[in-house]
Amino acid sequence: MDSYSFDDAIDGLKKLLSEKNELHEVVATKIKELTAELEGGESSEFNAVERIRDGFARFKKEKYEANPTLFNELATGQSPKFLVFACSDSRVCPSHILDFQPGEAFMVRNIANMVPPYDTIKYSGAGAAIEYAVMHLKVENIVVIGHSCCGGIKGLMSIPEDGTTASDFIEQWVKIGLPAKSKVKGDFGDLDYSDLCTKCEKEAVNVSLGNLLTYPFVRDAIVNKKLSLKGGHYDFVKGTFDLWNLDFSLSPSLI
Ligand SMILES: [Zn+2]
Repeated sequence: MDSYSFDDAIDGLKKLLSEKNELHEVVATKIKELTAELEGGESSEFNAVERIRDGFARFKKEKYEANPTLFNELATGQSPKFLVFACSDSRVCPSHILDFQPGEAFMVRNIANMVPPYDTIKYSGAGAAIEYAVMHLKVENIVVIGHSCCGGIKGLMSIPEDGTTASDFIEQWVKIGLPAKSKVKGDFGDLDYSDLCTKCEKEAVNVSLGNLLTYPFVRDAIVNKKLSLKGGHYDFVKGTFDLWNLDFSLSPSLI
């Protein structure tokens, strides 16, 4: 049964329930049971509640209870060395790919790992995270990590020349990376779409690093040598990770 059929069935049963409220209690209960079953009851292949419960139990046993020193320390506060911007993509969790332990990295994840320019109204969410990380946690590094096959970057590269958008939020958000799109199209216009997207995944990181400099407290921390900015790109097809310093162009890998 595909997901459409599930939704269809659930909607149909709910409609039936609301329309036939004179139904005999036993019949109504049966329909409720069937609905619950379709929505993730025992017979369902995937049970979200069980998955979450099991996952936490595993974490608690293998990590939390195995590292009392770490978690006792974290109970009193955090002093992460990193602020990380990464994509929301489920395949690129920095805690997994860079093995960050709890307390090591303050994190912002959004579509296409974009850092918007300083704007107290439009981008207050990102601004608050950067301000807190730099001013209060005093992180020493900000790392912006792009990745292979990024749907957000594909979205950016697919926005028509006239700038028209079809989504409520997505395209408006990824337009933060428009300077990267222009640069890549100008420099590598003869490449095919897929290669252009790969170039843009990296160049958009550079745009984000540039945008970080629009935050006064970021500039101050850099000038005072308390903070450094780094760009990264994780390729989960090849299994590689590139890292470079802020210099607005792709320089040789640091690792
Ligand atoms: Zn992505």
